[in-house]
Amino acid sequence: MMNQEDLFKNIISHSKEYGFIFQSSEIYDGLSAVYDYGQMGAELKKNLRDFWWKSMVQMHQNIVGIDSAIFMHPTTWKASGHVDAFNDPLIDNKDSKKRYRADVLIEEHVSKIRAKADKEVEKAAKRFGETFDETMYRQTNPRVLEYNAKADEIESRFKAALEENQLDEVRQIIIDCEIVCPISGTKNWTEVRQFNLMFSTQMGSLSDDANTIYLRPETAQGIFVNFLNVQKTGRMKIPFGIAQTGKAFRNEIVARQFIFRMREFEQMEMQFFVRPGTEMTWYNYWKNTRMKWHRALGFGDKKHKFHDHLKLAHYANAAADIEFDFPFGFKELEGIHSRTDFDLKKHEEFSGKKLQYFDPEINESYVPYVVETSIGLDRLFLAIMSEAYKEETLADGSSRVVMKFPFALAPIKAAILPLVNKDGLPEKAEEIVNLLKFDHNVATEAKDAIGKRYRRHDAIGTPYCITVDYETMETNTVTLRNRDTMEQERVNIEDLKNILNNTVSLSSLLEKSAGLSE
Ligand code: ATP
Repeated sequence: MMNQEDLFKNIISHSKEYGFIFQSSEIYDGLSAVYDYGQMGAELKKNLRDFWWKSMVQMHQNIVGIDSAIFMHPTTWKASGHVDAFNDPLIDNKDSKKRYRADVLIEEHVSKIRAKADKEVEKAAKRFGETFDETMYRQTNPRVLEYNAKADEIESRFKAALEENQLDEVRQIIIDCEIVCPISGTKNWTEVRQFNLMFSTQMGSLSDDANTIYLRPETAQGIFVNFLNVQKTGRMKIPFGIAQTGKAFRNEIVARQFIFRMREFEQMEMQFFVRPGTEMTWYNYWKNTRMKWHRALGFGDKKHKFHDHLKLAHYANAAADIEFDFPFGFKELEGIHSRTDFDLKKHEEFSGKKLQYFDPEINESYVPYVVETSIGLDRLFLAIMSEAYKEETLADGSSRVVMKFPFALAPIKAAILPLVNKDGLPEKAEEIVNLLKFDHNVATEAKDAIGKRYRRHDAIGTPYCITVDYETMETNTVTLRNRDTMEQERVNIEDLKNILNNTVSLSSLLEKSAGLSE
């Protein structure tokens, strides 16, 4: 078995080698935490976006989609709290000159202490065997208690420091915990500073503060400010949702883990407007619906889990993440948040415009509550890449890399391959392309031995290879090779369209995610 670190490295180099992801401006040595999607990546990303859009918008009669601008009036970000509070505390090590998020350093230190407590429990479980009472042990063993008390103490000290915005105290915690820089190994730290994650630029030719605008750090605000426009022109009745996909920008302090944390990324968000008091019902509905959507990808039920937030953001009354088991562990893939009426109320306050809904059922006007689902398209892409990537040893001892994407998501759905590049076979292949290209992304190529072409399509995850041989010219049949089983069967050319429609179209995946069929 390959270890996870090597697996992750292989996925990154495979992504580049086969045209999924390139570093941005690579010929200039790249730009940190910015990536470009290549010819295969752009197709896969588009399929993921379509899958999300169709299941959220098209399959819910009470959800509509918009496409709002990246630039917004600067007051938007005052109202949303991003100008004042969208900060991360940063600290530098003076010896290595490396920059860290102070909160991450402290949180990692705390989890190391908790891991020690868990280790004690594990050892005891082995020692006591079946009679072991874990709860009792955790509550009574002095060493476990001591570790956890220490972790709790650091956490509450840190929480208090953040709430009071006492950055000196945050630094003191790092000193007191004797946290060292993993690169230099020293405790030679700078002051802690707050760092706003929004990118700003100037609009127009005058450079003064009034012209400062921001690149949006989330797509959600474009939905909030259009709430009434959409509600009125679409004659929407509560509960209803507004969805959109689009770029967001965050000047992340520490950008690591490939496309997991980028400075320019794409979000897919949906804000669901509900009657106050019903938000918990809808929060649970969306938690379940979104989890079902992820599970429809067929990766089994161990790959995703909920992480309920105990500490809530100031605007939320409930929040959970859907975490995915990435090669570097379980990490946030999607957030589901009950945001109350915080955002709309703030926009009312800052704009002086009423953002209310008249509910005919109860004869009352109110500012709706919002439940949002927010997923990063690039993180979803990374999840799919890590799950699909398989290195296999075949029966004849040779090996292959195969991207086992769900068929409907594969960049190319079928490769039409003339066995030889002569005798009318390439023309026949072209005919088949012309038959299928209206419904599906198909490709043809004649160069190289057929075995080599199969391998190349395995490596980009093409579900079917359709081979045109001499028999085709006589019987109008082709061989159809399945990517996963590598089995081949002979089928009539006229059946190809149906076979593809039934197995590689998005609708099969959509039905599964809606729970219509399993
Ligand atoms: P994290 O804690 O990982 O920084 P977050 O809690 O700040 O994420 P949200 O603000 O809830 O993230 O954004 C919603 C989604 O957008 C996340 O679940 C994630 O999939 C995606 N996302 C956020 N920041 C980034 C980023 N820098 N690069 C790629 N995707 C991101």
